[in-house]
Amino acid sequence: MNIATPDPNPRGAPTLTRRQFLQQTGALALCTGLGRFFAASVSRAAESHATPSSTASPPTFPFKPAYLALHEQGILRLRADTLWDSLAHCQLCPRQCGVNRLLGKQGFCRAPGADLIVSSALPHFGEERPLVGKGGSGTIFFSHCNLRCVFCQNWEISHLGRGTRRSISELADLMLSLQTRGCHNINLVTPTHYLPHILKALDLGVSRGLQLPIVYNTCGWEKIDLLKQLEGIVDIYLPDFKYGDGETAAKYSAGARSYPEITKAALLEMNRQVGIAQPHADGLIRRGLIIRHLIMPNLINDSIAIVEWIAAQLPLDTYLNLMSQYHPAYKAFDYPELSRRLTLKEYEKVVARARELGLRNLDLDRRWLTL
Ligand code: SF4
Repeated sequence: MNIATPDPNPRGAPTLTRRQFLQQTGALALCTGLGRFFAASVSRAAESHATPSSTASPPTFPFKPAYLALHEQGILRLRADTLWDSLAHCQLCPRQCGVNRLLGKQGFCRAPGADLIVSSALPHFGEERPLVGKGGSGTIFFSHCNLRCVFCQNWEISHLGRGTRRSISELADLMLSLQTRGCHNINLVTPTHYLPHILKALDLGVSRGLQLPIVYNTCGWEKIDLLKQLEGIVDIYLPDFKYGDGETAAKYSAGARSYPEITKAALLEMNRQVGIAQPHADGLIRRGLIIRHLIMPNLINDSIAIVEWIAAQLPLDTYLNLMSQYHPAYKAFDYPELSRRLTLKEYEKVVARARELGLRNLDLDRRWLTL
């Protein structure tokens, strides 16, 4: 997952950037150099939420998450149990370690066997505006990560695994507490390696009254067979599309050369399942695909390849958040090309190409735009 941009929060609700959010929970150590990206309030919004050109159905209201029916049919529990059993030879993600997590073994992600570590759970006001509304996005940060990018801005959580051990029942209660606090969705950040725990907690949460849409907030590097297990459970897919080039992915994300190929297939599957992200009359999105792309310094050609692929392979009104807030963090200073922020020229070049291609549901950082 990427870091979302601070939200302008025009309705006057308490504003909380993701970094502030993490600091409040003790999840993130103080660090310097946030600079201009986080110093000013942000003015950004999707350029349009036009009528979709895909097969997605228009939103209906009142909204009922699809997983309620799967719970009633017992399918949610069945899928949770199947995934739990698969921890005996874990292949949840493309690393495919095959370790027996039920016996306490750790794979590449460093998740501690079958234990669950949660960094924090709070209403978050720094996500995309249609996810935040008045009550915030009910964000649950999971510790550890299978991608492990050198520039990760949440490295204490993703690389070091900072967080608290939680039971399945406690995770269900965290979801319910976010619902009680008025959040509009349950936003699962970096969920893949804990998916069996999450589905078990979701099944339990539904029996206790949970009924919020589920946001699957992922690095995008997801196996198709796993995504098929999520059909009818996830309402909003919120994947990154980080790299268009395998060598770049391998260099900055611990050898993940397969990232572009696997992520492209994952995005097509996500779009098939949930379609275009369209807001309801209240401005909230409760179903659909929202893609994030963090534009990186000196990697503009990669960004352009990504927007070209999206324009060619997905509907032109696919919701695409072009993020500008990269700043060097963690080990980024070991890579001279990543040791600076983005320039205005770089950002505008990618935005111009996206517009030229006809992408018309762009979420842009308008502080940057002179076009
Ligand atoms: S989830 Fe973790 S243990 Fe399982 S395959 Fe991925 S990296 Fe390996």
